[in-house]
Amino acid sequence: MLQSSINLQYLDMNRIEHIGIAVNDLKIAGNTYQKLLNSLIYKVEEVPSEGVITAFLQSGPNKIELLEATSADSPIAKFIAKKGEGIHHIAFEVDDIIAEMERLKREGFVLLNDAPKRGADNKLVCFVHPKSACGVLVELCQEVK
Ligand code: ZN
Repeated sequence: MLQSSINLQYLDMNRIEHIGIAVNDLKIAGNTYQKLLNSLIYKVEEVPSEGVITAFLQSGPNKIELLEATSADSPIAKFIAKKGEGIHHIAFEVDDIIAEMERLKREGFVLLNDAPKRGADNKLVCFVHPKSACGVLVELCQEVK
């Protein structure tokens, strides 16, 4: 049900930018997803601050991000220990991440970081707590120009 407080003219949450999948082994998962999507990994990138190594594949206009933990205290390692491999987050592209973070805070969402941080694939990112979004970890991402 739509609430009257939702501003339907607000277009900042543009589209799903990618879906993040937590995997045990990036090589094995990479091969599986290359076969599944009939598409090659076009970028592998380590994000030391998050303790992950990521691989990106494209499926038409859509992107899949595979994430393997590089340390035992990485959020991905914790996720896999708890839930096993699987969909880890959904990322939405935004034009102005600061404005969008402010809007979500005003709406009562719990953000996992106070300021945008550098993510993979040349993005500024911020995460919304899954408890705020019906069990789904939501990532906001803004392309760094
Ligand atoms: Zn992501």
